[in-house]
Amino acid sequence: MLVSAKEMVAKARAGQYAIGAFNLNNLEWTKSVLKAAQEMNSPVIVQVSEGAGKYMAGFKNVADIVNNVIASQGITVPVALHLDHGTYDGCKKCIEAGFSSIMFDGSALPFEENVAKTKELVAICEEKGMSIEAEVGAIGGEEDGVVGMGECADPEECKKIADLGVTMLAAGIGNIHGVYPEGWPGLRFDVLTAITEKVGTMPLVLHGGSGIPDAMVQEAIRMGVSKVNVNTECQLAFAKATREYILAGKDLQGKGFDPRKLLAPGAAAIVDMVKYKIEVFGSKDKA
Ligand SMILES: [Zn+2]
Repeated sequence: MLVSAKEMVAKARAGQYAIGAFNLNNLEWTKSVLKAAQEMNSPVIVQVSEGAGKYMAGFKNVADIVNNVIASQGITVPVALHLDHGTYDGCKKCIEAGFSSIMFDGSALPFEENVAKTKELVAICEEKGMSIEAEVGAIGGEEDGVVGMGECADPEECKKIADLGVTMLAAGIGNIHGVYPEGWPGLRFDVLTAITEKVGTMPLVLHGGSGIPDAMVQEAIRMGVSKVNVNTECQLAFAKATREYILAGKDLQGKGFDPRKLLAPGAAAIVDMVKYKIEVFGSKDKA
């Protein structure tokens, strides 16, 4: 059964560790992430972007796959199914589809509209016992081929959104989606401090967690980050293992072309990556 992310991130905030939120792409991803979380005895958040939801044949199918894998694979650790960077319409669809958590990303909207829509979704989530993540300011990343050095949220705006009753808050502190550019100056701990001074014990979310040095992520976790998103690193691990299998000619040996064999090294690489991240985030044995 899926649970809201509320309790797991609140406990993580109090215990100064973080819950990994791993993006899913297909059945292999789903099985691998849940297997790793179970073996590490860690609570976990699995999430899809709207694009991945479409790729997986719809949010309802995503919820069914996750629920079925939980049941069939004997997963007993707490699992939240979350929408990553949802639009207002996407959030409504995921609430309908049986997700237990959503992120409303109103960062591209005028601030007042972000506030109004976040408020409305907070009320729905409260009624349904779901968790909701909101975003303040934009998270940096590649846009039109140009990679920025990371943006920072305004602590005052963070407080205004936090006060709406959201479960957790994504705020830019110099982090970036995707692969980090050369010469990236690092996370802005001064901004993180300024934000926590305003929002108190509100769990914060670190997006673009792939590629930030572990020690820097752990410092951010000590300072109030309670959910860390991981996407690119699992994709890179999967691609690398699959490439090695093919370059070694294994798909040409015997029944090596069987997708259950062809995708196995990539799936195993995701399990290893998720376990590694859980270790770094400190959520091992916190189920
Ligand atoms: Zn993000």
